[in-house]
Amino acid sequence: MSKTFVAATLGMMALGASASVQAQDIQVFPGGSSPSVIADPKNFSGHVVVDLLTPGSVSAPASSGLVSFAPRARTAWHTHPAGQMLIVTAGKGWVQQEGQPRQEITSGDVVWIPAGVRHWHGATTTTAMGHIAVTYLRDGKTADWMELVTDQEYEPR
Ligand code: MN
Repeated sequence: MSKTFVAATLGMMALGASASVQAQDIQVFPGGSSPSVIADPKNFSGHVVVDLLTPGSVSAPASSGLVSFAPRARTAWHTHPAGQMLIVTAGKGWVQQEGQPRQEITSGDVVWIPAGVRHWHGATTTTAMGHIAVTYLRDGKTADWMELVTDQEYEPR
């Protein structure tokens, strides 16, 4: 279902950009076709695995990946130059916009993060969380990474 959703999203984006896009063949990206990667510890705390689902391209200016966070694992603080959609596929997690209370997210939830909003996302202290991230590109870039989220910031009060 998540894959269908992503495919539909990419399809809609292609339609939206139809003026500048030639007719193309449907592309299937087989599950498991790109190797799982351990997330860069500069930008993530704890144990995080990233499976690239679709790469960014000119006709669909977004990349998508399945990101799996172990309990306590989370992104660093960051912004997205063109926004990001998170589709939570498993478990329970948190997303927090700077200056606002964290919000709990769970399987089936969809989160939209507008361009330029400083935030982090990750698992809760006790439950792993998986999400598909559809991240839009601006000038070939998906994210501006900042400081790691400290234990003090992460620990719920
Ligand atoms: Mn993000």
